[in-house]
Amino acid sequence: MNRDGTKSDLLSVDVEEYFHATLFESIIPRSEWEERQGRSAPRVETLLERFDQWDVRATFFILGWYAERNRTQVRRIHEAGHEVACHGYDHTTIGAMSQDRFREDVRRAKGLLEEIAGCAVTGYRASTFSVVDSTLWALDVLAGEGFAYDSSIFPIHHDRYGIPRFPRHPVRVATGAGELVEFPLTTFRAGPFNLPVSGGGYLRLLPFPFVRRSLRAIRARGETVILYVHPWEIDVDLPRLSMAPWKRVRHYAGIGAVESRLGRLVSDGRFGPFRDRLEGGSFPLWSPEIGRA
Ligand SMILES: [Zn+2]
Repeated sequence: MNRDGTKSDLLSVDVEEYFHATLFESIIPRSEWEERQGRSAPRVETLLERFDQWDVRATFFILGWYAERNRTQVRRIHEAGHEVACHGYDHTTIGAMSQDRFREDVRRAKGLLEEIAGCAVTGYRASTFSVVDSTLWALDVLAGEGFAYDSSIFPIHHDRYGIPRFPRHPVRVATGAGELVEFPLTTFRAGPFNLPVSGGGYLRLLPFPFVRRSLRAIRARGETVILYVHPWEIDVDLPRLSMAPWKRVRHYAGIGAVESRLGRLVSDGRFGPFRDRLEGGSFPLWSPEIGRA
């Protein structure tokens, strides 16, 4: 946490096991989750150590399934001054759920995290950024379930997610159950294109000087930088499973570089958890009908 109170960049970790990631869905069926050895807990410990060294606090969007099996760690994340937030219960994408099922999912995960961490959980990030045009109703459900913010919308064109027309900056969204703030994932505006640069595969696969320059430019324009990383992305011994070559690149490439990349990017900015940015922040209002903020 920055001492001068001027931090505006946001640091986030999506806490799940490697077999929860969408790319593994077709390779490791859910029925095998229980017998698979979890690998993320030691990687979360590494991240906690690094964040201490870098004197930064982050938001941990934690999967309910993971929290149930790593209760002590979840409590320690909270006690170390980081924000405990919700990544849903079992990584089902929103489009695969009915509204009722989604409500049950977030209620279960939020309740579980609050019981374990002993604090209010008011932030949400959907699996695979699955708040898209056809699932915008999810924001109503989240507001109704007591969430203050969401960070699931990627304002880009992508084969699996994204709302390209969505604002690139944090906005208040009016829902049937009240307002909540949406923090869209960071993009670098280049001509007519929104380029994702600040986390996950983009952080691993893009040339690092390009990523760093882009984030500096975003910050210089007064825009919000949101970094996001998964524990399995710093797991250099991640099990090598057989998959199509393009998937292999998307999932394994650059893993050895993430820790140091993250450190250099964090040193460039003034990072903190979402909850701090929410406090006292003023955000323009956006509604799906108007389509602009
Ligand atoms: Zn996830």
